[in-house]
Amino acid sequence: MVFGVPFDSTSSFRRGSRLAPAAIRYAYRNLEAFDPWYGTAFPELSITDLGDLTEEEDARLVVDTVESVVALLKADGKIPIMLGGEHSITTGAVRNFKECSMVIIDAHSDFRRSYFGNEHNHACVTHRSLEILGPGRIFSVGTRSTSREEYEDPDYSKVIFYSSREVDARGMAKIADEIDAAAKGKIYFSIDMDGLDPAEAPGVGTPEPYGISARGLRLLLNKLARRIVGFDIVEMTPLYDNGNTAMLAAKIIQDFLGSREQGE
Ligand code: MN
Ligand code: MN
Repeated sequence: MVFGVPFDSTSSFRRGSRLAPAAIRYAYRNLEAFDPWYGTAFPELSITDLGDLTEEEDARLVVDTVESVVALLKADGKIPIMLGGEHSITTGAVRNFKECSMVIIDAHSDFRRSYFGNEHNHACVTHRSLEILGPGRIFSVGTRSTSREEYEDPDYSKVIFYSSREVDARGMAKIADEIDAAAKGKIYFSIDMDGLDPAEAPGVGTPEPYGISARGLRLLLNKLARRIVGFDIVEMTPLYDNGNTAMLAAKIIQDFLGSREQGE
């Protein structure tokens, strides 16, 4: 079940992620509807697009609304596929998955307790998620930007951070196996598009060099897709895109759906 959250009012650098749901949908419609690798004809899957939530400025209100919408979808046995918007919205979804583990793709640790006086700033989402899920349940992949304050936070080690350097050194296949073995229960999967290399995903709010590759992300998704019960793509902004980021976001959704269809 797809829905968009056009919200970007806490973005600290480049705004525009409120425009991403429309851009990702437009790109998705331009993808081929069949993928022989997965053997999937995407229009035949039972996926509904609910459209977008009403645009609001208040982060707390948006997070609470996302929580309610995802609660309804979950109660109905549906898998939410949320198109952001900025990363703060993920907290609302995660509140519905207290029993799950979480995988985050992100350049940033997003581990601030509060930022600019707002605990629902997008730079705080990993900390908020830790408060919901508890220690040892969150795996954040692609990290390469963190403040000293976050790094020295006594709770920092309660999240398993795989830096992009570590992914480079050890390879995503090994890390995917490790997460698959260590994660307990089902998985909520959150993709901050800036986790990817800006060469592949330039249209993001806060780009950071030396990101993980789209192929690495695909590998991780292939490995974990059948355990995923909630999914989001956030922080993409069409205002800085050459078209490739929206297309990649759309393709990632196909890879998620296709991986679920494919046997082990
Ligand atoms: Mn983020
Ligand atoms: Mn980020």
